[in-house]
Amino acid sequence: MTEQNVPLLQVENLTKSYPAEEGGFFAGLLGGSGERIPALNGISFTLNEGETLGLIGESGSGKSALARIIAGQEKPDKGKVFFRGKQITGMGDSEIKSLSPHLRYLPEDALTGLTNDPKNRVDRLLFDLAEKYPPQGGGSVRDAGMRLLKRVGLNEDYLTRFPNQLSGGERQRLALARALLLRPRLIVADEPVSNLDLTTRTSMLNLMKQIGREAKIAFIFISHDPSMVRFFAGEGRIAILFAGRLMEELPAREVFNLATHPYTKTLLEVNSAPSPLPGGALDPEMAFTEMERVDANALPLETLESELSADGNIAASAQLAAANRQGCPFFRWCPERFERCPEVTPQLLTVTKRLEAGQYLPLPPEEIEPTHRAACLRYIDQ
Ligand code: ADP
Ligand code: MG
Repeated sequence: MTEQNVPLLQVENLTKSYPAEEGGFFAGLLGGSGERIPALNGISFTLNEGETLGLIGESGSGKSALARIIAGQEKPDKGKVFFRGKQITGMGDSEIKSLSPHLRYLPEDALTGLTNDPKNRVDRLLFDLAEKYPPQGGGSVRDAGMRLLKRVGLNEDYLTRFPNQLSGGERQRLALARALLLRPRLIVADEPVSNLDLTTRTSMLNLMKQIGREAKIAFIFISHDPSMVRFFAGEGRIAILFAGRLMEELPAREVFNLATHPYTKTLLEVNSAPSPLPGGALDPEMAFTEMERVDANALPLETLESELSADGNIAASAQLAAANRQGCPFFRWCPERFERCPEVTPQLLTVTKRLEAGQYLPLPPEEIEPTHRAACLRYIDQ
């Protein structure tokens, strides 16, 4: 295979668990000490150059664990991650460092908590990094840094400040400028706007989208908020994580037409305003209206929780218990479950058929979308 044919990112069958704290809440829930908290179970997907994947999952579903493993910050228990054909999961720290300009991880609280040490002043945070990764095709380090600072909507007034003198939105802009300085091919952004107020969030989302598009950067955009993920993913794909498993993966544009997994449908129902924007529209004013509208329609997670089960109990603890047992992790709350759901753990496969009256019937060809995968026994004959 030539380099061009290798996907940018290949994630194969990742599994990760963490030790439950001895005598702690999870140890009790999982049946004693020495138990492990299952955070990820059999995660596989592929991302091509310039593609966007939006990852939706409730709190505790494993989003950050997945982000850290993809970014090479943690090793999985099982499975592999390949970046441009090279296996990150087998690399030592120095090899991972050599990849790091191309693969940037943007955590939720980027640059938060930095002290007023001179090395943390905005100019140093920016220019020291620019010096380490000198601009291609010449030009001064300072110019390269300033260009990016302006591109993310900040100016020279910020150079002498410290991160704790910036607003949350300004810190995220600075973190983005620093990531971009390294000319990444992939940015893994973990809840990058969740802590920002609505206006700041919208302009940050638009900025990231626009820059991603201009520089053809692939994004993994992670959020617990389906409307935000749909908005960001635009022409890309969406994947839905529940209890450490991928439940469904589909083109963002088609999410309302194609969603088949009962869990996805439940998520969309509580958050069901389809975007009036043409996919990926970048007009900030329109986007603001859209976000405002979506936000007004969005129900808090508590509502989702109570809609998902009669007991109103689908918090992280219930998810964890679900992750640990056989069968579909969602069957307990599923409005469409049948006898086999508690017994067989469905694989995430392309949706080509549907169970009707006890028989799997092929879908009409026009309803088959090759990139649409679901882990549901109503669609997967296993
Ligand atoms: P999310 O980002 O979707 O909220 P996480 O990936 O942070 O979820 O966590 C998934 C599960 O793994 C949670 O139950 C969490 O408590 C557990 N977990 C994550 N990181 C660790 C860790 N370093 N040590 C112990 N448990 C962890
Ligand atoms: Mg997280």
